[in-house]
Amino acid sequence: MKFVYDFTEGNKDLKDLLGGKGANLAEMTNLGLPVPPGFTITTEACRTYLDSGEEPAALRDEVSAHLDALEAKAGKKLGQADDPLLVSVRSGAKFSMPGMMDTVLNIGLSDRSVRGLAKQSGDERFAWDSYRRLIQMFGKTVLGVDGHLFEEALEAAKRAKKVQVDTDLEAADLKKLVAGFKKIVRAEAGRDFPQDPREQMDLAIHAVFDSWNTERAKLYRRQERIPHDLGTAVNVCSMVFGNLGPDSGTGVAFTRDPASGHQGVYGDYLQNAQGEDVVAGIRNTVSLAELERIDKKSYDRLMEIMATLENHYRDLCDIEFTIERGQLWMLQTRVGKRTAGAAFRIATQLVDQGLIDEAEALQRVTGAQLAQLMFPRFDEEAKTERIGRGIAASPGAAVGKAVFDSYTAVKWSRSGEQVILVRRETNPDDLDGMIAAEGILTSRGGKTSHAAVVARGMGKTCVCGAEELEVDTKRRRMTLPDGRVVEEGDVLSIDGSSGEVYLGAVPVVPSPVVEYFEGRMHAGADDADELVEAVHRMMAFADRKRRLRVRANADNAEDALRARRFGAQGIGLCRTEHMFLGDRRGLVERLILADTDAEREESLKELLPLQRQDFVELFEAMDGLPVTIRLLDPPLHEFLPDITELSVRVALAEARKDPHENELRLLQAVHRLHEQNPMLGLRGVRLGLVVPGLFTMQVRAIAEAAAERRDAKGDPRAEIMIPLVGTVQELEIVREEAGQVIAEVREHTGVELKLSLGTMIELPRAALTAGQIAEAAEFFSFGTNDLTQTVWGFSRDDVEASFFTAYLEKGIFGVSPFETIDRDGVGKLVRDAVTAGRETRPDLKLGVCGEHGGDPESVHFFHEVGLDYVSCSPFRIPVARLEAGRAASSSTGSDHR
Ligand code: PEP
Ligand code: MG
Repeated sequence: MKFVYDFTEGNKDLKDLLGGKGANLAEMTNLGLPVPPGFTITTEACRTYLDSGEEPAALRDEVSAHLDALEAKAGKKLGQADDPLLVSVRSGAKFSMPGMMDTVLNIGLSDRSVRGLAKQSGDERFAWDSYRRLIQMFGKTVLGVDGHLFEEALEAAKRAKKVQVDTDLEAADLKKLVAGFKKIVRAEAGRDFPQDPREQMDLAIHAVFDSWNTERAKLYRRQERIPHDLGTAVNVCSMVFGNLGPDSGTGVAFTRDPASGHQGVYGDYLQNAQGEDVVAGIRNTVSLAELERIDKKSYDRLMEIMATLENHYRDLCDIEFTIERGQLWMLQTRVGKRTAGAAFRIATQLVDQGLIDEAEALQRVTGAQLAQLMFPRFDEEAKTERIGRGIAASPGAAVGKAVFDSYTAVKWSRSGEQVILVRRETNPDDLDGMIAAEGILTSRGGKTSHAAVVARGMGKTCVCGAEELEVDTKRRRMTLPDGRVVEEGDVLSIDGSSGEVYLGAVPVVPSPVVEYFEGRMHAGADDADELVEAVHRMMAFADRKRRLRVRANADNAEDALRARRFGAQGIGLCRTEHMFLGDRRGLVERLILADTDAEREESLKELLPLQRQDFVELFEAMDGLPVTIRLLDPPLHEFLPDITELSVRVALAEARKDPHENELRLLQAVHRLHEQNPMLGLRGVRLGLVVPGLFTMQVRAIAEAAAERRDAKGDPRAEIMIPLVGTVQELEIVREEAGQVIAEVREHTGVELKLSLGTMIELPRAALTAGQIAEAAEFFSFGTNDLTQTVWGFSRDDVEASFFTAYLEKGIFGVSPFETIDRDGVGKLVRDAVTAGRETRPDLKLGVCGEHGGDPESVHFFHEVGLDYVSCSPFRIPVARLEAGRAASSSTGSDHR
């Protein structure tokens, strides 16, 4: 195994091994761009070191060989006394972890070589400043000395000299400072600052390896869902200096605007400075365009290089560069981060430039980005007062009065106020308040904190970890960094897409992308912006590529019509229980309480026309497209009054000696139907089999509605779906009864009806016996909500709020299995059921209607296992269409059909 790669040996596809920085430095080297020579130590070496505590045996010799080559190229040796080669030792993992890991610059300087550097550069001040930076950085990151001690010494030197900035310190001052820094090292680290350049380099390499496992790096990885076992590569690169005078400098650049996607000159430049100075923000940078005036030759060369990089990477790149005495050097490039809007615009621009094709364009955007673009947002034109910034934990724009506890949140929202729940952090006790609030703001915690996880689950706007805001829940107030105080009742606006927090009400505008999907704005129209145009084109690409069809979960005509506007190709799940609530509840109550067949028949007869009308409206809204209607699913007690409230009512009536006959009967029924685990109780097909006439009433309503629509020259395509089936026998009984009812309606109306009958697969037993069940089912729809609940044994109503935060923090899973399909467990059952079902019935239609149907990652899985469609809530349809297109055009998502 090889542990060290020269920059000339790697390429951009070796990120696993060389990290992002190393792979791209190699790529630029091979493109002939001016990269200072160097080499990369692999992540493999890091992993070995972290696992065993020792570097791989071969590493030292390999590093020596590469260092020899570097020295030969430079014509000088590392730390050579009269003219030292200096190197930087930089971390660089596969995924960018900005500022999380360590870097040491100016390795190779010592008491002797600092004089050589002074002579060679003709700049004594520069040499001593470089040396003090090395001791400071090395002392802190390699030897573990508290960084403040160096900073204090530097401040003291400035005070003694009565100057404000370090650039005003002269060589003699810096020489003294170096002596002071060395004393600090000796006192704190119990050893001298090493004078042997190779020892400096080796220790720095180990320190970079170790920095993979600092607490902040681990926390960052948890938040960004970066695996902990990747390790970092280490780049050893010859130093170039941007701080050698006014003809030197350093900067960052983007090949196009990462906010809008527009092409142009974007970036910042800092004259006479090193990269670290830009990050530290000690002096103000100038815009990159200024560089043209300062150093036209370097500027022109930089523009040329940027064009080369964009054409080569065929994407937006960001770049770090240094100019050393008029010579331009490239220190880093990578495919740059961008906003969601820019991602869509850039993808279509690159297609127009002929750099990428449609399939590749689809890989450049994500469903999550599209979802972000669909949230209402704050009016950009509005005047705002920003008071803080936290982590953008759950997107959206929320405005409301600040409240500092859950109780007040609920109380105020009940009286019609919009509130923002502000907490230091939330816990399960805050759940009511979170539900009541428009948005949630916390001053602690990251993307996997309780607040973030629960808010995302609820689709509620959340900003968490806004650390500058000091939240005092006892005194119901929050203090801003400038000392001002936000009291309970003051209005706040929080932006869950950017993490910004504002004082006062910022006006909210609907997203233009939703206006477009709603048909209120047209791509190509005068008022359509570039973004809408780009989204429109990307959706067209996705629709052309995708194999999966996309249906909606919708229970009424209004949702169905919206779903259709959003591109739904049918309804995959109509939950009929929603049709039994409101003023129909009384009828259901009577049905449940019926003592005799005649009473039951009576209630069913009253329900029938209401149900029929529901279906007529639904078929009309979805005319010509399939509509899957699921027969009643949830436990009957959900339709009955709350047991405690009813008991109190009855007890009071009895105390008044005025017991109401009906209430007493109701209470008995509620007791009779009470279940300890209703989710595993009398629901779904079980209900249909024990309450006579219930399912047949629903089937009759469907059949009659279809006949009515046919009479009206409509094209109804009803599919009847049975929930919670565990064995084919259940299905066979329902099937036979349904068949009789349909035949009756056919005879009665004279309309030829084509109604298919299928089942949900949402219990492990159903999945395991899918081959048998397919004998009685014309279609399967995977109910991955219940399937996840039953496969994991997780109560879907409870666990996300109770212990999922702990599970996420411990890394047991990276994302809730209710949000993204658990491929290995639940997914395996789905995959096997697909195979078994199709074996029995090759034309079996297959879909999914659990929440996962609208989740980007899960859509890829459903594509892979060969489902025919996914079904999701209307708002998620565009995301599902896009992801289905991405899945079909990605080289990794293979088509199994
Ligand atoms: C499911 O279980 O995945 C499903 C779609 O049904 P419900 O959520 O209504 O139980
Ligand atoms: Mg279900």
